[in-house]
Amino acid sequence: MDLIFLGPPGAGKGTQARWIIEEFKTPQISTGDIIRAAIRDHSPLGKEFKSYTDAGKLVPDDLVNRMVEDRLAQPDCKGGFLLDGFPRTVVQAKALDKMLEKAGRSLDHVLLLEVDDAVLVERITGRRSDPETGNVYHIKFNPPPADIADRLIQRSDDTEEVLRQRLDEYHAKTSPLIPFYEEKGLLRRIKGVGTPENIRDLIFGVLKG
Ligand code: ADP
Ligand code: ADP
Repeated sequence: MDLIFLGPPGAGKGTQARWIIEEFKTPQISTGDIIRAAIRDHSPLGKEFKSYTDAGKLVPDDLVNRMVEDRLAQPDCKGGFLLDGFPRTVVQAKALDKMLEKAGRSLDHVLLLEVDDAVLVERITGRRSDPETGNVYHIKFNPPPADIADRLIQRSDDTEEVLRQRLDEYHAKTSPLIPFYEEKGLLRRIKGVGTPENIRDLIFGVLKG
């Protein structure tokens, strides 16, 4: 299955992606993770990326498009993929259409996780991740086991101030993708509030329905 995960920062895309990739045996392609890996490597491109992510701004389309095109060409994407955090602009969505067309494939579903902005502030400021496993926790909603609490990290862009910028970017540049995919008959709306397990079951209902 060729899937896209759409939704504002903190909607729960990463959390849900873990279950989807396990169930459907497809790779998760998170542009945010790829960008953070480049930043950690201190590559020249990583430095450029950091100036955008720290400001809560989107990285320029052409850079992200090239990254995704390379990733989708890898053999593990042959049977399907879950794109998490891409596309984020209409330019990116059109570029993705071209990439898929060239490869003779097409999207099956665009999952939209809907969560109000007010809820996202608490989710993002309480998010912590485990650098060893990649697991994502929340200090209140999904507390980590005590023995790993010391090694957890907080993303530098997970502050309330940077989140406001990221939300502005989401509403201005990413939300136009909602009508874009609705018109193509691909959009599947899922309420992203409730327990993660309930949300997972809603998503599985759509994907298996
Ligand atoms: P979240 O999971 O909180 O929505 P991400 O990890 O997806 O955040 O993205 C973190 C940052 O990486 C974004 O604020 C943006 O700067 C950059 N980024 C990630 N994906 C894209 C993309 N598709 N286009 C442009 N910038 C991106
Ligand atoms: P995204 O990838 O969309 O930015 P994450 O999956 O990283 O979102 O979730 C953001 C934060 O909210 C994390 O700390 C995560 O543990 C927490 N979270 C995820 N789903 C829920 C939920 N249904 N209810 C409460 N908190 C959640």
